[in-house]
Amino acid sequence: MQPRPGVPAEAVVDLAAITHNVGVVRRRVGAAAVMAVVKADAYGHGLVPVARAALAGGATWLGVAHVHEALALREAGVEADVLAWILTPGTDLVPAVRAGVDVSVAAVWALEAVVAAARATGRRARIHLEVDTGMSRGGASPAEWPALLDAVAKHVEAGAVQVRGTWAHFASADVPGDASVPAQLQAFEDALRTAREHGVDPGLRHHANSAAAFFVPSARYDLVRAGLAVYGLSPAPELATGADLGLRPAMTLAARLAHVRRVPAGAGVSYGLTYTVARETTLGLVPVGYGDGVPRHASWNGEHSGEVLVAGARRRIAGRVCMDQVVVDLGNDVAAPGDPALVFGPGADGEATADDWAAAAGTISWEIVTRIGSRVPRRYVGPTGGDVA
Ligand SMILES: *Cc1c(COP(=O)(O)O)cnc(C)c1O
Repeated sequence: MQPRPGVPAEAVVDLAAITHNVGVVRRRVGAAAVMAVVKADAYGHGLVPVARAALAGGATWLGVAHVHEALALREAGVEADVLAWILTPGTDLVPAVRAGVDVSVAAVWALEAVVAAARATGRRARIHLEVDTGMSRGGASPAEWPALLDAVAKHVEAGAVQVRGTWAHFASADVPGDASVPAQLQAFEDALRTAREHGVDPGLRHHANSAAAFFVPSARYDLVRAGLAVYGLSPAPELATGADLGLRPAMTLAARLAHVRRVPAGAGVSYGLTYTVARETTLGLVPVGYGDGVPRHASWNGEHSGEVLVAGARRRIAGRVCMDQVVVDLGNDVAAPGDPALVFGPGADGEATADDWAAAAGTISWEIVTRIGSRVPRRYVGPTGGDVA
């Protein structure tokens, strides 16, 4: 995989891989429907192209965090069911109700805001109720749940809202045998029963993220919300690699060397001169840095760093990741300005993967791909993306 000539760096997104990965999730979850999570610009891959590729793979729902993300899908002509799950006070919900966007409700104030938008538009708002089953992030607490249900029942009765789903989120579905998983499922069952007791039909029940979709069959319910797996990365790398799961990483971050030079033994490299070359060596300059989303935490720390594939081998980063560039140590190998430098990708050519970068930076692969910033142009390949690399 190479960047187009004349482009310092680009993120090549394989839309065929997105479509394929959704198919893998679908087969894994059997009767449950698949919501492809495309928040945060589809984890950095590009909202609209990924949404279309995911729908082509059989996803029937799209999931985003914010209402404005859902509206961007509608503006692009995407008509599939879409759920936005973070509401903040003051957000204008009229466009969302008008556009048939489902919004998540976790508190009475949010319900009232949705009801007001429904009244303003004369349309019934579509809501999903979020209940906290133990993660203590979003969702109504068990103590708040009954009062929220009573308010929901009243507005359903009045025709202002329609409950299309009830959901919660796992804290540790990627940890096999973790006691919180059955505890959260039990709390979810209790919440569903309470909903029915309060006269609220829960609609589609959904609790599973990618990890639960693969590894917790009893958590699949009616719908799974798959994010990371759609992008071809394993949600539990210790348990199974992406390849083990049949997934194909969709993003490759490809650059070209901007500069190549010899330096003598003893030369210090990059800010702080934290890397010193033991003997004469060749350094290559790769024009991506933390301004592009390459994590500064993946700098050389005396033992390891992120690695870039140049001239057939993975090269450590010599010193610190800068805003716009990193320096790699090529030893005595021959390279020239313009040569491809693969930062991460599927690994097929020997390049590092997003998981490798996550390990080098002390983070998770979700963050590696999602952080690749807007300065890096995206290029789409695969059946729905134009040219095939
Ligand atoms: C981001 C997110 C997901 C997707 O999680 P993955 O681990 O990437 O599959 C699912 N549900 C909610 C509520 C989320 O915020």
